[in-house]
Parts: sequence; C-alpha cells; structure tokens
Amino acid sequence: MKRIVGMVAAIACFSLLLLQPAPASSLAKRTVASDGSAALHSYVGADDRVWRVNTQRRLIALTFDDGPYPFYTPLLLHVLDRSHVHATFFCVGRSAQEFPDLMDRIIESGDDVGNHTFNHIKLSGLSITQIADQIIEADVILASFVGHRIDLFRPPHGRYDRRVIEVASAMGYRTILWSDSPEDTKDITPTLVVQRVMQQARPGAIVLLHSGQYRTIEALPVIIDRLRAQGYTFVTVDELLASEQM
Ligand SMILES: [Zn+2]
Repeated sequence: MKRIVGMVAAIACFSLLLLQPAPASSLAKRTVASDGSAALHSYVGADDRVWRVNTQRRLIALTFDDGPYPFYTPLLLHVLDRSHVHATFFCVGRSAQEFPDLMDRIIESGDDVGNHTFNHIKLSGLSITQIADQIIEADVILASFVGHRIDLFRPPHGRYDRRVIEVASAMGYRTILWSDSPEDTKDITPTLVVQRVMQQARPGAIVLLHSGQYRTIEALPVIIDRLRAQGYTFVTVDELLASEQM
C-alpha cells in the first residue's frame, strides 16, 4: 500500500511538472564537471541544488553513494555505529530491492537514506520520462524501507543537466551534491583519502564517499577521529540542511 501511495504521489508531482512551463530560472548556469570541480564552490542554489550548507557551526555530513552491498555495507555500518556517527546513504533502487536486509540495517542504525536512481545510470543523456522513471522507481522502493517520503536526491556520477534538476525538484527532491570529495573510487591509498577529506573539511561541508570501497572503510576511523579532534560534529544531510543560516 505504502508503495502504491508513493507511486501515485510521485506521478502526481511529475504531472504537475509537465503542465507547467519551464521556470525561467538560472538552472543551466552551473554544471558539475566530470572531475567534480564545481563542487568546490560554496553554494546553496534556489533551484534545489546543494553543495554545502551555510553555517558557522562545525557540522559536517558524511555521505555514501551506491549500494547497499554485501560485505562493504555491514562493515561500513559497523565502523559508523562504533563511533556513534550517523551518515546519509544515497542508495540505488535496484540494489535496495536485491538486498532488503542491508537496507533494514541502514535504517536500524539511524542513518539517513537518499535516492540515487533505480539503475545508477547517467541521467543527462535520458529523456524526461526516463529520468522521472529512474527517480520514481527508486523512490517507491527506498520509501518503503524508510517509512516516509525521501527528499534527498543525488544523480549518479554527479552528472546532470537542467531537466534532471527540474524533474527531481518537481518530485519534491533537493539535489545534494558535495563540497568535499577525496575521489575514493580511484586507486588511491586510505592515507590519501584521509588527507583529501581533511584538506577540504569546513563547517557545513558535505563529504562524498562511496559505499563499495574498502579503502574508504579503512580511512573512516581516522577521518572520524581527526574531524572530531578539530571540533566537528557529524550530522545527516537533513540535519545539516536544518542548520542552514540564511
Ligand atoms: Zn553513484
């Protein structure tokens, strides 16, 4: 039932989008380059894109993309739970469907969940209908685990165009990008993962990490200790958004 309600709501939102003319906003003024360089700028967009949150408080949000994965996700949750850190997991709908027990463990740990599409496909090359399908299909599955509607979205590979943001926005999603990325999917050492995260850490930062990387799990205890030593408190993306100072 919950899934049907979610689907109806999502389709209703999307229908509204189709009925309205495209907003005369400046959605196309920025895009994220393949190296994520645009993410280095501090900016909370009026168009629902968020790179970091404007706050003086030493709050920081760890985010983990992809999965859930057998082996990696339980290890990751173990490290986070042991350190009493709550993070935000941008999960892939197809993986959530495949590994429901892992989704339950993420929820039980008190972590937050965001939408990372159903198939982890690059959205910028798709039609509006295909983009909407990717978000809706993941929305229905993820919301059925979380128990309430989800409003955080991250496009796979950080690749999007104006239409992706508009479709996500019409469905009530904020598109969450990042201000701190160690590029942990590349063949680098855990030490370099730590160094890069620390170099880019700042109040209100959103840290992009990946669920399926052992180097990240190895680096995580050191990242947590060092950021805490600098006075940082770990929050979920929702909590970080709530702390935003206008
Ligand atoms: Zn991803």
